[in-house]
Amino acid sequence: MKPLIHHSVESYRKWKSLNKNQTIGFVPTMGALHAGHSSLLQKARAENDLVVLSIFVNPTQFNDKSDLEKYPRTWESDLVIAEQNGVDCVFAPESQEIYKDHYQFQIIENQFSKELCGKNRPGHFEGVLTVVMKLFQIIQPHRVYFGEKDFQQLKLIQNMIDAFFLPVELVPVETVRENDGLAMSSRNIRLGPVERKNASSIFKSIKTAKSADEAKKLLSGLGFEVDYVEDKFNRRFVAAKLGSVRLIDNVKL
Ligand code: AMP
Repeated sequence: MKPLIHHSVESYRKWKSLNKNQTIGFVPTMGALHAGHSSLLQKARAENDLVVLSIFVNPTQFNDKSDLEKYPRTWESDLVIAEQNGVDCVFAPESQEIYKDHYQFQIIENQFSKELCGKNRPGHFEGVLTVVMKLFQIIQPHRVYFGEKDFQQLKLIQNMIDAFFLPVELVPVETVRENDGLAMSSRNIRLGPVERKNASSIFKSIKTAKSADEAKKLLSGLGFEVDYVEDKFNRRFVAAKLGSVRLIDNVKL
């Protein structure tokens, strides 16, 4: 069945009030859906009565304006993927609907959000945490599904849930990869054919190198502009640019 579409908070709340006593699994995304998102949706489908998907390209988490402008928008095919994965409703608000306060209120985390991706992306995690808090308040889910590809984001959201006693369970989902190991990402479609071929080195190098430093050297030698390679929580984290496309990944050590 085609999912219902809500563009406003009011319309979503009306629908929710008609579905009392049903468990809601929620998958927040920025759209341009791929098999990584499908994996989150399938888990949510298996564990809840209702599945809600949000599609919202959140302007406050982009510290680079051109990255926001170039972010892929594929509404029609997103709806097909939503339907294929048994999504009950899609929440797709306009920015004005979410930021009626003009971003006067924000969630700020002072430690981990300043490391890894936070170092060179000022304001990024404030944007992420604030929009996720708003979405949780609107959707009121029982379970929320986040991908380990964005491990720092997942951990910060888990910490926010704990800090604010939010009545929701976070379910982590393993990273889905292309055949050559590249973590699926909405940004991958912006890679040219040669870049796309080289992109698999990101995963290969953090997996096979003996140290973070060695992985960094390997990637720099291959033409990546490396932001960081760091070992933490028994994982290796990487962020690197290939041309104008910034890619991130992490693996268990
Ligand atoms: P995004 O639309 O990129 O903001 O991602 C929405 C959600 O999908 C986040 O929880 C991501 O971690 C997750 N996600 C994105 N790519 C993947 C992937 N390759 N495997 C698993 N989860 C993913």
